[in-house]
Amino acid sequence: MAIDLVTRRDWGARAPRGSYTQLASTKGVKVHYTGGLVNPGIVTDHNGCVSLVQSIQRGHQDGNGWLDIGYSFVACPHRKVFEGRGLHHLPAANGPGLNSGHYAVLGLVGNAGLVEPPDGVLHAILDAVEYVRERGDAGLEIKGHRDGYATDCPGEPLYAWVRRGAPRPGGDGDGDPGDGEGGGEPEAPPFPGRLLRYPPVTRGEDVRTWQRQMKARGWDLDVDGAYGAQSSDVCRRFQRRQGVEDDGVVGPVTWRLAWEAPLS
Ligand SMILES: [Zn+2]
Ligand SMILES: [Zn+2]
Repeated sequence: MAIDLVTRRDWGARAPRGSYTQLASTKGVKVHYTGGLVNPGIVTDHNGCVSLVQSIQRGHQDGNGWLDIGYSFVACPHRKVFEGRGLHHLPAANGPGLNSGHYAVLGLVGNAGLVEPPDGVLHAILDAVEYVRERGDAGLEIKGHRDGYATDCPGEPLYAWVRRGAPRPGGDGDGDPGDGEGGGEPEAPPFPGRLLRYPPVTRGEDVRTWQRQMKARGWDLDVDGAYGAQSSDVCRRFQRRQGVEDDGVVGPVTWRLAWEAPLS
């Protein structure tokens, strides 16, 4: 499913108060929440999403003195993606010194009211992620605001989802369950919930599953269910190629990339 973009004109955005700093590329995306009360009524009322985004922009311009809403994009429960600062513009939401590293994507949930992200919000965040990868020269990282900055943002439920590798919710929200991302793209099996690392050797079926997948991608390694020096070396080289931290540990992101990263 293509991104369902709500343009600035569509949501009645105010003009930015000045010109944006241009951004050639980023390492990926940082995910945010509002940090305040979000009226659960927006789930059945998209006009409520529009009003909320407008009020966030007013707060950032009038309260914070920023030139525009701080976020690059905003994801709402209706799987719509509001255009904030947009592509190739420096966001303001990640914290001082951290804005050039990542686009900032807000999921419309808060710390009260609507706290658990509806599937539509998760899909919309991922639609925005794919969009900035394709059009905004963003890398593969998906992180939370709290990664590298002292904040509780993006809240526990959203951050736990990021840590799980930001999987698509089952089905893609188009009423056609089971078709994953809707485009026949590969989808990773659920992350096993533990880190595959060495030393000491990690053993198990989850290791075997990962090794089988890496071998299918063309890497030279034994599918023996034992994550030792050889697996960790393959992991490191794979991580470098994907532009993520090369710690040689298969966590949620590295796990997901083994299935979902395009074959080069
Ligand atoms: Zn944040
Ligand atoms: Zn909405």
